[in-house]
Amino acid sequence: MISGLLRFIFYIFLFYFIYQVIKLFQAAKKIKAKRKKPATSSSQMMVKDEVCQTYLPLDEALSLTYKGQTYYFCSEKCRQKFLTEAKSKS
Ligand SMILES: [Zn+2]
Repeated sequence: MISGLLRFIFYIFLFYFIYQVIKLFQAAKKIKAKRKKPATSSSQMMVKDEVCQTYLPLDEALSLTYKGQTYYFCSEKCRQKFLTEAKSKS
Protein backbone atom coordinates (compact mmCIF):
# COMPACT_ATOMS: atom_id res chain seq x y z
CA MET A 1 0.00 0.00 0.00
CA ILE A 2 2.70 2.47 1.02
CA SER A 3 5.12 1.30 -1.66
CA GLY A 4 2.37 1.73 -4.28
CA LEU A 5 1.85 5.33 -3.20
CA LEU A 6 5.63 5.98 -3.25
CA ARG A 7 5.82 4.56 -6.75
CA PHE A 8 2.96 6.85 -7.78
CA ILE A 9 4.78 9.90 -6.38
CA PHE A 10 8.01 8.74 -8.05
CA TYR A 11 6.26 8.59 -11.44
CA ILE A 12 4.80 12.09 -10.93
CA PHE A 13 8.30 13.43 -10.25
CA LEU A 14 9.66 11.53 -13.24
CA PHE A 15 7.02 12.95 -15.59
CA TYR A 16 7.55 16.43 -14.15
CA PHE A 17 11.31 16.11 -14.74
CA ILE A 18 10.80 14.95 -18.36
CA TYR A 19 8.35 17.80 -18.91
CA GLN A 20 10.92 20.33 -17.67
CA VAL A 21 13.63 18.87 -19.94
CA ILE A 22 11.32 19.08 -22.99
CA LYS A 23 10.43 22.68 -22.09
CA LEU A 24 14.13 23.54 -21.83
CA PHE A 25 14.86 22.00 -25.26
CA GLN A 26 11.98 23.91 -26.86
CA ALA A 27 13.22 27.18 -25.35
CA ALA A 28 16.73 26.49 -26.70
CA LYS A 29 15.30 25.80 -30.17
CA LYS A 30 13.42 29.11 -30.13
CA ILE A 31 16.58 31.04 -29.20
CA LYS A 32 18.50 29.37 -32.03
CA ALA A 33 15.74 30.17 -34.55
CA LYS A 34 15.71 33.80 -33.46
CA ARG A 35 19.48 34.07 -33.84
CA LYS A 36 19.47 32.48 -37.31
CA LYS A 37 16.73 34.64 -38.84
CA PRO A 38 18.45 38.02 -39.35
CA ALA A 39 21.54 36.38 -40.89
CA THR A 40 19.60 34.51 -43.58
CA SER A 41 16.98 37.11 -44.51
CA SER A 42 19.06 39.79 -46.25
CA SER A 43 22.79 39.02 -46.37
CA GLN A 44 22.45 35.81 -48.42
CA MET A 45 20.15 37.37 -51.02
CA MET A 46 22.06 38.05 -54.24
CA VAL A 47 21.27 40.81 -56.71
CA LYS A 48 22.57 41.43 -60.23
CA ASP A 49 24.42 44.52 -61.38
CA GLU A 50 22.88 45.26 -64.79
CA VAL A 51 25.89 47.27 -65.94
CA CYS A 52 28.85 44.93 -65.33
CA GLN A 53 26.71 41.72 -65.01
CA THR A 54 28.09 40.73 -61.60
CA TYR A 55 26.18 39.26 -58.69
CA LEU A 56 26.62 40.71 -55.22
CA PRO A 57 24.92 40.51 -51.82
CA LEU A 58 21.99 42.86 -51.34
CA ASP A 59 23.64 44.41 -48.27
CA GLU A 60 26.61 45.63 -50.34
CA ALA A 61 24.63 46.74 -53.38
CA LEU A 62 23.63 50.29 -54.28
CA SER A 63 19.99 50.52 -55.30
CA LEU A 64 18.23 52.77 -57.78
CA THR A 65 14.53 52.97 -58.54
CA TYR A 66 14.08 53.86 -62.18
CA LYS A 67 10.65 53.97 -63.87
CA GLY A 68 9.09 51.87 -61.08
CA GLN A 69 11.79 49.17 -61.18
CA THR A 70 14.56 48.73 -58.64
CA TYR A 71 18.07 48.14 -59.99
CA TYR A 72 21.18 47.19 -58.03
CA PHE A 73 24.78 48.15 -58.66
CA CYS A 74 28.18 47.18 -57.30
CA SER A 75 29.43 50.78 -57.22
CA GLU A 76 28.50 54.40 -57.77
CA LYS A 77 30.35 54.21 -61.13
CA CYS A 78 27.98 51.53 -62.41
CA ARG A 79 24.95 53.43 -61.16
CA GLN A 80 26.04 56.58 -62.99
CA LYS A 81 26.75 54.57 -66.15
CA PHE A 82 23.27 53.04 -65.98
CA LEU A 83 21.68 56.47 -65.53
CA THR A 84 23.53 58.07 -68.46
CA GLU A 85 22.70 55.08 -70.71
CA ALA A 86 19.05 55.16 -69.67
CA LYS A 87 18.84 58.88 -70.36
CA SER A 88 20.46 58.57 -73.81
CA LYS A 89 18.00 55.80 -74.79
CA SER A 90 14.86 57.77 -73.96
ZN1 LIG B 1 29.11 47.01 -61.45
